[in-house]
Amino acid sequence: MSALRVIIIGGGIVGTACADALLRSGHHITLVESDTLGSGATAAGMGQIVALDGSPAELALTAFSQRLWDELVRHSPHIHEHHPCGTIWVASDAEELALAAQKIPIYAAAGLQAELLDDVALARHEPQLRPGYPGGLRIPGDSVVYPARTAAWLWQGVAAHGGQLITAQAVALRPHGVVLHDGRVLEADVIIIANGARAVDLDPHIPIRAKKGHLAITDRYPGFLNHQVAELGYVKNAHLADVDTVSFNVQPRATGQLLIGSCRQFDDVSPTIDPHMLARMLQRCSEFLPALAHLSILRVWTGVRAATPDGNPLIGPHPHIPGIWLATGHEGLGITTSLGTAQLLSAMIDHTTPAIDVTPFLPSRYLHAEESR
Ligand SMILES: Cc1cc2nc3c(=O)[nH]c(=O)nc-3n(C[C@H](O)[C@H](O)[C@H](O)COP(=O)(O)OP(=O)(O)OC[C@H]3O[C@@H](n4cnc5c(N)ncnc54)[C@H](O)[C@@H]3O)c2cc1C
Repeated sequence: MSALRVIIIGGGIVGTACADALLRSGHHITLVESDTLGSGATAAGMGQIVALDGSPAELALTAFSQRLWDELVRHSPHIHEHHPCGTIWVASDAEELALAAQKIPIYAAAGLQAELLDDVALARHEPQLRPGYPGGLRIPGDSVVYPARTAAWLWQGVAAHGGQLITAQAVALRPHGVVLHDGRVLEADVIIIANGARAVDLDPHIPIRAKKGHLAITDRYPGFLNHQVAELGYVKNAHLADVDTVSFNVQPRATGQLLIGSCRQFDDVSPTIDPHMLARMLQRCSEFLPALAHLSILRVWTGVRAATPDGNPLIGPHPHIPGIWLATGHEGLGITTSLGTAQLLSAMIDHTTPAIDVTPFLPSRYLHAEESR
């Protein structure tokens, strides 16, 4: 296929992954970023590369993307601060442990290893957990990266092959075009909206709501945890609509620091720390890891996830505006699914067969004909 002119709006992990994939397909890339690369949700998040089975579509996309990350980091893990720590999902009671057991064949069918832990094995893997939990589910293939570095690294590769970076804010869309804040209009064969939660600024019909999260990072406590450790109820909490939620989710960084999450607040895009929400989050985590309450926290920050109603991202052509494509709505999984998103979008643009079924991700599931303007 002949080389296309591609403009990507947003230089987070999703936009830079799309830039990399489409450059590799032989296209000409321009990236429009209003701030610094990777400064949005990409810098704010936990950086966990996690396979999740919330739905068959979610498992297919996260498993596919995890394989792409493993391949990406294989030759230079230090560039991405890759830490292959795995995840342990802690069961709070026998019912949750039974649910965890049901997940093992589901993960196996997706080519992923999963191990059921009883109480003794759980305590052996993570001695800091409060005694009394009946067990958990260990996913050894999950890992952690520092995605802002990966975004910068991906863009460096594109720029070295002619990619052009324009520092500007996109303010409106046209068929095959984008208007910048200074009045310039850029035109291209393909324009990709990859500006995360702010996609709605460009088209208010895009079904995305902001979900704010708080994170805290401690001083260095090497060996405190061996895995990223989270409660099994996390996924259920994460998808609860219209309710602010907190969940236990703590990650050991390669530096020995602990990254503490997580919480979700709807429709709040302010960077302000909410002391009440932060206190609830720390309290929840200390219930699982009592010694956490005695560690020093160095810094606290927030970030905004872009949530769709069904929790799946929007990947594919805009049904009404010719030449506009979407790569947004990745909620709390956009680091993981960025590489898969880029491959799927690139296959659709090039009319080749995508590696997995794209139907659950197509924007046309929400942007119906009656909304055309
Ligand atoms: C607290 C928290 C924890 C998380 N933890 C994880 C995790 O462990 N694992 C995981 O997989 N995911 C996680 N996520 C989700 C993940 O961070 C996001 O899904 C992902 O970063 C989205 O990337 P993005 O490139 O779409 O958006 P962003 O990183 O937000 O990038 C969008 C870019 O677009 C730019 N931009 C915005 N508007 C415009 C405009 N009009 N014109 C030009 N540029 C514009 C912004 O400056 C920004 O650089 C977490 C998110 C949060 C908030």
